[in-house]
Amino acid sequence: MGAAVRAERRITVWEDARLKALLLDADGRVVGAVAARGPGVRLVEITATAVVLATGGAGGLFGATTTPAALKGEGLALAARAGAEILDPEFVQFHPTAIDVGLDPAPLATEALRGEGARLIDGEGRFLLGEAPDADLKARDVVARAVHAARMEGRGAYLDARAAIGEAFPHEFPAVFAACMRSGLDPRISPIPVMAACHYHMGGIAADADGRTTVAGLYAVGECAATGVHGANRLASNSLLEAATFGRRAGRAAALETGGGRPSPVEVTPDLPEAAMSELRTAMTAHAGVVRNEAGLSGLIALIDRLEAQYGSAAALEAARLVVQAALDRRESRGGHYRSDYPQTAAVADHTRVRNVRPAMRPAVLEPAA
Ligand SMILES: Cc1cc2nc3c(=O)[nH]c(=O)nc-3n(C[C@H](O)[C@H](O)[C@H](O)COP(=O)(O)OP(=O)(O)OC[C@H]3O[C@@H](n4cnc5c(N)ncnc54)[C@H](O)[C@@H]3O)c2cc1C
Repeated sequence: MGAAVRAERRITVWEDARLKALLLDADGRVVGAVAARGPGVRLVEITATAVVLATGGAGGLFGATTTPAALKGEGLALAARAGAEILDPEFVQFHPTAIDVGLDPAPLATEALRGEGARLIDGEGRFLLGEAPDADLKARDVVARAVHAARMEGRGAYLDARAAIGEAFPHEFPAVFAACMRSGLDPRISPIPVMAACHYHMGGIAADADGRTTVAGLYAVGECAATGVHGANRLASNSLLEAATFGRRAGRAAALETGGGRPSPVEVTPDLPEAAMSELRTAMTAHAGVVRNEAGLSGLIALIDRLEAQYGSAAALEAARLVVQAALDRRESRGGHYRSDYPQTAAVADHTRVRNVRPAMRPAVLEPAA
């Protein structure tokens, strides 16, 4: 894909650019973007008849994540700031078997290992989800909670591939094997320490089947978009399929856009200092992670308020607020969103739709799913 983009002469690639704001005209149509470029952080204004956001998920908002730390939900926040509807931001998927060897992002022990018979055990060698051969193959959220609970109880959580895969590990699962060996862990000899980690954002910028958002001139594709196809709990491997399918459609639709007025002056998002980002990430994993409750989520809102007062409205903080406020408002458990104080699933599935998050964040509005 990268090679195809580079080979296309009509595409200009800026690898050193970061999105800092979306440009709007007087009618509220998106007419371009502001990017920060280079080590000297030069701000560049780019005008366009359409903008397609493909800024990925929000795993970098969490301390424990399988995704790069650069994915801080900035596209999500800036789209919300431009007035775009945000759909189900509380629906975050946590992968149950991120390898816990102190790396950021955490390497992944693929589900295929459990498919081949590797078993989840605690530090005493007891099965985490029971003895049945298929006990560890339940949905990601169920397995993630079992791993999380074992760790919270101090029992530890491990993926034991010694019997099921053993000597075949290096050629059957070379990427996982290499990740383990880099950390001095031989999975043929030792169980792999695992943790639940943020892996995918089902929620995002509401987009139709052509990637169109609710704001004229603005499109969203890939993980930053929410087309609704993943519900509250994405099935493995569906995201690349979604990105390829809707990405193509969005490109075609965006190319047909015309018009747009002069860009109005815009506020550029400040960066969050590293220490503040680190504080946010630790708190997000602790309180907006696998298991959530009102006290933890309310504490997170207070933390985001404090960081915003100190450092300004950084996009990462606004993205975190979208996730946390919607998680607080959804008083049920569904898919990747689990509330220990509301463990039941509501009989009717509702979407969360958030609009007009600036200047004052409005509470999420629940509307019946289509
Ligand atoms: C370890 C792992 C394994 C996975 N395995 C599978 C799988 O087998 N099958 C499957 O379907 N899915 C899988 N997924 C999920 C899938 O990889 C992602 O959903 C997909 O890559 C998202 O693609 P994207 O283009 O939307 O975003 P990304 O590939 O995440 O790209 C987003 C880009 O936007 C950039 N960006 C973010 N913010 C800004 C900003 N402010 N300014 C400029 N640039 C910005 C980022 O740096 C990044 O380069 C996996 C994910 C992980 C983490």
